[in-house]
Formats: sequence, C-alpha cells, structure tokens
Amino acid sequence: MALVNEHFLKLRGNYLFSDIAKKVNAFKITHPEAKLIRLGIGDVTRPLPQACIEAMHKAVDEMADERTFHGYGPEQGYDFLIEAILKNDFAPRGINLSPSEIFISDGAKSDTGNIGELLRWDNSMGITDPVYPVYVDSNIMCGRSGTLGEDGKWSNVTYFPCTEENNFIPSIPNHRVDIIYLCYPNNPTGTTLTHDQLKQWVDYALANSTLIIFDAAYEAYIREPNVPHSIYEIRGAKKVAIEIRSFSKTAGFTGMRCGYTIVPKEVMAYDLNGQRIPLNPLWNRRQCTKFNGTSYVTQRGAEAIYTPEGKKQVKETIDYYMENARIMREGLKDAGFHVYGGINAPYIWLKAPKNLSSWKFFEKLLYEVNIVSTPGVGFGPSGEGYLRLTAFGKKDDCIEAIERIRRWI
Ligand SMILES: *Cc1c(COP(=O)(O)O)cnc(C)c1O
Repeated sequence: MALVNEHFLKLRGNYLFSDIAKKVNAFKITHPEAKLIRLGIGDVTRPLPQACIEAMHKAVDEMADERTFHGYGPEQGYDFLIEAILKNDFAPRGINLSPSEIFISDGAKSDTGNIGELLRWDNSMGITDPVYPVYVDSNIMCGRSGTLGEDGKWSNVTYFPCTEENNFIPSIPNHRVDIIYLCYPNNPTGTTLTHDQLKQWVDYALANSTLIIFDAAYEAYIREPNVPHSIYEIRGAKKVAIEIRSFSKTAGFTGMRCGYTIVPKEVMAYDLNGQRIPLNPLWNRRQCTKFNGTSYVTQRGAEAIYTPEGKKQVKETIDYYMENARIMREGLKDAGFHVYGGINAPYIWLKAPKNLSSWKFFEKLLYEVNIVSTPGVGFGPSGEGYLRLTAFGKKDDCIEAIERIRRWI
C-alpha cells in the first residue's frame, strides 16, 4: 500500500490566481462589453531581447549538426554561462565567487522549492509577510510548517510582518529561527532593504547559525544606490546565505526557464552533534541526482544577456516596465492613495482606502473601474488590506487605468 505524504493534504486547496480567474470570468459573463485592464499579471509581456533570439537560433543550428551537437550538459551548467555570470553580476560589485559555487537552474521557483531538501524537516523557519507563496508551500510539503492556526498562520513558521506601520522593514526576531527566507526587492510589496538593514539579518544569521535563503529575482530592477544587489555585498554573508537568481524577470525568460543558485563553499548547516556540514557538495549531489541541466540552447540564450547588445536590450525592457511603475505610482499617489514599491521593483503595493479588505477592494476595482489586481492577503496574513499591481503590462493600459481610477474617486 502506497502511503501518501499527508503534508500535501494540508496545502490550502485554492490557489490565489485561480480564485482571481473565477471572479474575473464571472464578471465577464455579466459585463461582456467591459474593457478589462489586467494589472494583476505576474508574468512579463515584452518579447525576448534580440541578442538572446540570435544566440538561440545559432545554438539550434549547432544542435542540427553532428559536429556541434550537444547532448547532456554538465548538471551544474555550462562554463560559458557561469563565467559570464561571475564576470558581470559579481566581479563588478567586488564579490569573488568560484565557478563551482554557481549552479545553473531551470528557474528560481524550482530551486527555492527544492533547496529545503538539504535541511531536516524539524528546522524552524521564518518568512517576511506578505511574500512569494513558494517558500511556505514548499515547507508545508515536507512537514516543516506545523499546523495551520485560525489566524491563517502556520505554527512552526515565524512571520515577520511588513506593513505600512513598520515601513515594510521586518524586525529581527528575538528568538532563534533556523532557516529564513528573504526576497529583495520584494514580491509582492516592491520594497527593498538598504545595505545596513540587510546587514542586520546577516549579523543575526551569523550569531544564531541561521541559514538565509535570499531570493534576488528582481535584482535587475534596483535603481537606488544604497540597495544591495546581492546578499554577498554584506560581509560574512557567504557563511550563512544561499542566493537564488532568475533570468525570468530580468530578460523575459519566464517561458525559457533559466536561473541560477549560489551555494558558497563556506555556507554550512549542522548535524545533530553540532558538526558543521558544507552545503555546496550536498546541493551538487542533489542536482546531479535529480536534475539533468538546463538546455544548451537556453543557456546560450542566457549568455547573450551579458553581451553589450544584450545588456542594452535588457535595460530597454526594464526601463519600459519601470516607466509603467512610475506612471502608476505617481498617478495613484496624486489620487490620494498610500502607495509603496515601484521604485526598485516592478510591483506597486496599494493600501485599500477606508479599511476595505483586500478582496473587497479587488472587487470594487473590478466592477467599478474594470481593473484586475491581485489581493494582498493572497501573499500572507499581513497582506490583508492591500493590493498588488504589476508594471508588466502595456504603457497605454497603465495610463488608462490611472485615468479611470482618478475619475472614479
Ligand atoms: C517570478 C519569481 C520567481 C520565479 O522565477 P522563475 O525563475 O521563473 O522560476 C522566483 N521568486 C520570485 C520572488 C518571483 O517573483
């Protein structure tokens, strides 16, 4: 008899985006003439940079010729891509990493979800709240989260609330937490930590032997100078942090699937005798056993992001989204809303007026101005009373959405 992993049964049935889709479909049936503007999408919409397209066409041609054909590649990724990453993403920031500390992946979601396999199920874990749902859900699946309370919180998860009240700066815990997930720039709030604020988390981790899993999927959107692009800009972070990155939001790779994870040689976890165990060889072993590498064609496409043309094209796309973010942020501010994010991230985090709940505000925007958003509570209990808008849409839609909201209030 095959016994099920009953932790899967604890996962909350309805996924946020399917609930939204249902409500939007119901609206469309009763209002077939309405022109909906979708500001809820978490996916990019601009096509791939031309440099990536050309590199991938070339790579496909190589695959068509037996002299240049590529079969299985290294599980850790090709050296050409790893070298480009080290040279462009880290060396200019004074961060020295070795090629064997970089693991090319099929995206950040897989790695954020899988990295917990290296850690015992009975570690305690902490997350900023609200946050990208994969961190909690992947820990529920292996039984690390405990049980769900009436307040929507899991018993073995420490929540670090990020709200208007603390200016979205999470407080350092006053007790020990074994594993902490940080995502900066943040999805969904679009907020960031300064160098000094992030340093407090690294110092906490060093003092408590905590492992930080740092999700830097939105690193390319950082504009302000005092916002760290990598956790390894903080002294000591290599001992306590794994960093996860993605080309999805950077270069429109959501449909291509490529990212990478940094597991420094110095980063440790502990056995029950308190013996320090390096995680780099364990992750290497895990990848070699369960992952057969990202496709050659995709890695050639990712490499092209780092060419001069690639860099220019990536910047144009990000500038386009960030102009959308500016239009929405400033327009909503002028209209009297409390607005956060949108400066170093493609997300706007909007406080609902008159203490409306997330879902009430979502429905009002849908029915009264025909705008689709994402209810903040879907990202965690502290997201209640907020909405997320994304800058991944079309500029004209962003302008019209703001016009509609202006006329509406
Ligand atoms: C989009 C997103 C990812 C997923 O990236 P993929 O590389 O496409 O899997 C990871 N983390 C955060 C916070 C994201 O918003």
